[in-house]
This record gives sequence, C-alpha cells and structure tokens, in this order.
Amino acid sequence: MSEREDLRARVAALRSRRRLQARERVRRTVLRRDGVRCEVAGADGAPRWLVNFCSNDYLGLAQQFGVASALADAAARSGAGGVASHLVCGHTAEHEALERELADWLQVPRALLLGSGYMANLAVVQSLLGDGDVCVQDRLNHASLIDAAHLAGCRLRRYPHADAEGALRQLRAAPGGAAMLATDGVFSMDGNVAPLRELAAAADAEGALMYVDDAHGVGVLGPEGRGSVAAARLEADRVPLQLVTMGKALGGYGAAVVGEAALVDHLAATARPYIYTTALPPALAAASLAAVKLARREHWRRGKLAALVLRLRRGLAARGFELMESDTAIQPLLCGEDARALAMSRALEASGWWVAAIRPPTVPEGRARLRITLTAAHSENDVDGLVEALERARDEVDGAPHRHGSLQ
Ligand SMILES: *Cc1c(COP(=O)(O)O)cnc(C)c1O
Repeated sequence: MSEREDLRARVAALRSRRRLQARERVRRTVLRRDGVRCEVAGADGAPRWLVNFCSNDYLGLAQQFGVASALADAAARSGAGGVASHLVCGHTAEHEALERELADWLQVPRALLLGSGYMANLAVVQSLLGDGDVCVQDRLNHASLIDAAHLAGCRLRRYPHADAEGALRQLRAAPGGAAMLATDGVFSMDGNVAPLRELAAAADAEGALMYVDDAHGVGVLGPEGRGSVAAARLEADRVPLQLVTMGKALGGYGAAVVGEAALVDHLAATARPYIYTTALPPALAAASLAAVKLARREHWRRGKLAALVLRLRRGLAARGFELMESDTAIQPLLCGEDARALAMSRALEASGWWVAAIRPPTVPEGRARLRITLTAAHSENDVDGLVEALERARDEVDGAPHRHGSLQ
C-alpha cells in the first residue's frame, strides 16, 4: 500500500467542506440575453426571465448593434479562429488597428493585445520580474495579479487596502532587485478607486515601476472614458504600464497591456503568456475596435451610468442600507456571513432580480456581499425595482420588521 495521499479522496473532502460552509459554486445557464434581461434555466429546470445586476457590461456595449455587426462582418471575412500565435502568423490587420486605436485613446506609445486580462497580468509580471525582485501589491488586488507574482517567482509583499503609506513601507522593506508597485485601478469587489496619485509618488520615491490594472475603470472613468489613471490626472508616463480589458466596459473579450514602448515591446518578445498561446480571434479585435470608438464618443453612456449609480445609492440609503464607499458601477452591499449573502441573492432571484452573492475566497472571511453592478443599459425603473426588491429581501431574510441597519 502506498502512503501517498489519494487525490480523489482529497477532492471529495474539500467538496463536502464547501457544502457545509455554504461555499459551493454553481453555474447558471443563460438561455437568452436581451439587454439587461436574461432568460435563465432555474434550479428546477424551468426557465425564467431575470433582470441582470451582475454583469460587467458597464456601458451596455456587449449587444450594441455596431459592435455585434463588426464581429459578424469580420468573422465572415476572417473566420472564427486566431489560427496561430501573434509571433507565428496570427497577427492580423484587425489586431493592428485595435492596438493603434487603444494607444491613441489612452495617449500612450504602445498597446499589445493578449488573450485575456488574467493572461495579461501573468505576462506583465512574469516578463519583468524574477528571483530577487519584489512585487508590492494592494491586499485586495485581483487574483490574477497575485498569481502573476507567484508565476514570476519574485517576492510578493502586500500592503493594507488603499494605503499608499503601507505601499511605501513595503517598498522600503525590500531593497535590492527591481520593484513593481501593482494595484487595481477600481477594486473589483469593492468598487472604490485606488489612491493612484499617492501610489505613484511612493513608486517614484522608491524607484519602483507602477502598474495599474484598470479592468473596471477603462471606458467608465475619466475624460473620454480613459480610465482611473486619466481620472486621477496622472500623466500616462507616471504609470508606465496599464491593463485594459475588453471583457468588461467594452463588451467583448480579450485584453491589452498599454504603456511605454520599450516595456511593451519587451512583453511581446519575452512574455510566456503572450508567446505560447493562440492570438485573439481577429473578429473579436474588430468588435473591440468598434466598441472603443463608441466608448470614446458616446459620453451619454457614462452620464447615464453615473446617474443610475446615484439613484441606486440614494434609494438604498433612504431605506437604511449601509453603502460601501464607491461611486463606480460596482455597488456592493455587505452581508457578512456567506449564508446571509446567499439567502439575499436567492430571495432577489425569486422576485426576478439577478444579483450574485460573492463569498470567500473571492472576498475576505466574514465579508460576503451582494455585488450589484449597474450598466448604461439599465433604466431608472430597473434601479427603483431593485431597491424595492432589496428591501423586501432583507425583511424576508432578517425577519420583518427589519432591525434598522441590520444589513450593513
Ligand atoms: C476581470 C479582471 C481581470 C481579468 O480580466 P479577464 O479579461 O476577465 O481575464 C483582471 N483584473 C481585474 C481587476 C479584473 O476585474
């Protein structure tokens, strides 16, 4: 008999632990999508329509006619696949046009397309840092940035959330070797914006390279939707590298690393998650090009989104909900225990509203939440309806009449 641990037994044990902790994750099958309305297969198999408040399609571009037809037209020309990596024969005119448009929009010398935001973060850190270097990160950074530091084999030092002093301390505590200061621009589960000016000053003072993952900021914040760096009025050269994702506000799929020419070119020549993978299908690049043009031009989308955010916050505050400090499209409601977040999410679904419960390890222990996301495709009626449904759900979950402020 081998003393080796049995992997299947381990998997089964972990699974039952997730079940006990109300931490199982289930996928829902969307049968049809019509703007913010989704027909979803129910647990009992019966399909039903829900108003979706958990997508990242912040500008409502995923089904926009011009974007979808750019995809279809390019697919008719170039087909479905990327056919090879960029460095072999996968780099097309569609990719080239999108990279140029992104660089022009974000006022940077270079943009490089990658398969996804997750891979782009792996690429940036893996190609620039190694043994003996340090990557200093916000405690609440996206998982892909944390994984990237592990892949790079550099030291990873985390500082308290949004604490530029803490970042400076961590940089000072790790002299020698090269340093990168990496932060989300907008935090994906909290919705707040990083203190980018203070962080850039800390990076400058310690000779560290600043990298901003702006997955949730680009398209939404700043002039022309140029993102959280532009909104903080930081010159592009203060932040030598930024991540732009196409899967969120731009309504498509894929990502780009943008910034200084020499750094971006180094990624293209050396980053393993760039070299050893198939190019993004050109049709997706064509769709994103159309989306970027709309995002730049159609300011009304950002205006409408901002007005809906304000309306939601006012409605919730008036009903005694405690809000988190966010003025972005991400508006979380803290629930505390996992089971409570799940119960709220289920009660909302029963009345036709889809808001995902986010639980550890995606968020810290005891900080489970409903992550409400708004889009320019929602209406005022949708938002008002959600606020009322949230109040009813809280009464149902906590027992009516609710204790004021019990849902923090
Ligand atoms: C979604 C997200 C990513 C990953 O982007 P994908 O294109 O979905 O892989 C990276 N960073 C942050 C902060 C994100 O929210």
